Amino acid sequence: MAWWGFPFTTDLAIDLGTANTVVAVRGQGIVLDEPSVVAIRKGARPTQVVAVGREAKEMLGRTPSTIQAIRPMREGVISDVDVTEEMIRHFIRKATGRVPLRSRILISVPAGITQVETKAVRDAALKAGVKEVHLIEQPMAAAIGAGLPVNEPRGSMIVDIGGGTTDVAVISLGAMAAYKTLRVAGDALDVAIQQAIREGHEIMIGLSTAEKIKMKIGSAHPLSQELEIDVRGRHIRAGVPRSITVTSAEIRDAISGCVEDIDGAVKSVLEDTPPELAADLIEHGILLAGGGSNLLGLDDHLHEVTHGLPMRRAENPLHAVVQGVLVAVEHLDVYAELLQ
Ligand code: ADP
Ligand code: MG
Repeated sequence: MAWWGFPFTTDLAIDLGTANTVVAVRGQGIVLDEPSVVAIRKGARPTQVVAVGREAKEMLGRTPSTIQAIRPMREGVISDVDVTEEMIRHFIRKATGRVPLRSRILISVPAGITQVETKAVRDAALKAGVKEVHLIEQPMAAAIGAGLPVNEPRGSMIVDIGGGTTDVAVISLGAMAAYKTLRVAGDALDVAIQQAIREGHEIMIGLSTAEKIKMKIGSAHPLSQELEIDVRGRHIRAGVPRSITVTSAEIRDAISGCVEDIDGAVKSVLEDTPPELAADLIEHGILLAGGGSNLLGLDDHLHEVTHGLPMRRAENPLHAVVQGVLVAVEHLDVYAELLQ
C-alpha cells in the first residue's frame, strides 16, 4: 500500500466460521473475534436483527419466544442468506467503523459452498460498502497461515476442526488434491457430552456447560494424569439442581464416537491422495487447526491412527485461518490463482 493511499485503502481479512467469525485488518492484526450468531425478531419481514455476535450467543437457549438466536453458518453451508448477510455487514462495520472508500476484502468461506452461497457472501460485503471482494477456501487459508508452501508441487495436509464442520484437505500447486468435509466437529462433541451425562448420571446439562467440560477435560488420548471437574445440572427425576464430579476418562469415552468419525475422514482423504503427495506427508505430516484441534491428546491420537505421521498444531488454532487470509490479502498477486 502506497503511503499516500492511507487511510483511503484498507485491506480486510475475514474468517467466516461456523462457530466464530474473526476479522483482521492489514497493519492492525485481529480487530474482532465473535461468535457467528445472530438474534432476530421472530417472523419479522424484512429480517429484524436484535443482536449479533457475543451478545447474540448469550441469548442462545435462553431467548423469549419472540426472539430467535441463529447460527447461520452452523452446518458449513449458509442456512439463511438474509441473516448471514446481516451478520457479515454488522461485523465489517464494527471492525472498521466507517467502511473506507477503497477497501478490499478477502473472506474465507467453507470449502465446497455452492455458487449461490458464494454470491450471498460476496453481495453482503458489497452491500456493507466494500469495493473489492475476494473469497478463499478455509483449508487453503489455514495452510497459508501456517506458512505451508501451497503454491509448490508438494503435498500439505490440513485438518481443521471447527464448530460445525471438520475439513480435511491435501493441498498442492494451489489447489485441493483431495478433500472431505464432515459435519462432525466441536458442536457434536458437546452434544455427545450432554447425552453421556444424562445417561450416566441422570443429570441434564446445557450445551454451553458441555462445551466447558470439553475444553477443560476433554481428550482424545489417555492423559498422563487424568482430570476431573465438578458439574452442575438438573437431576432428571428429582427435578432439582445437583452437582456431580465427571472424569476425563468418562468424557473421552463419551466423545470417542465423534473422534472416530474424524479419524475416518482423515483416513479417507489419505486414501484419495495421489501417491506422490502422500509420500510428502510422511516427512511433513499434518497441520491441525480450528478450535476443536485444542482437544487434549488429539495430536497423539491422530499420530497413532495414521500409523505415525507427524502432527503439528497451528500456533493459534482458533486464528489459523484468519492469519492465512490476512497474509493472502496482503499478497493478492502471489495468491491470486487460489481465490474463488
Ligand atoms: P469455526 O471455524 O467453525 O467457527 P472454530 O475454529 O472457531 O470454529 O472452533 C470452534 C470450536 O472449537 C467450538 O466447538 C469450541 O468448543 C471448540 N474449542 C475451542 N477451544 C477448545 C478446547 N480447548 N478444547 C476443545 N475444543 C475447543
Ligand atoms: Mg474455521
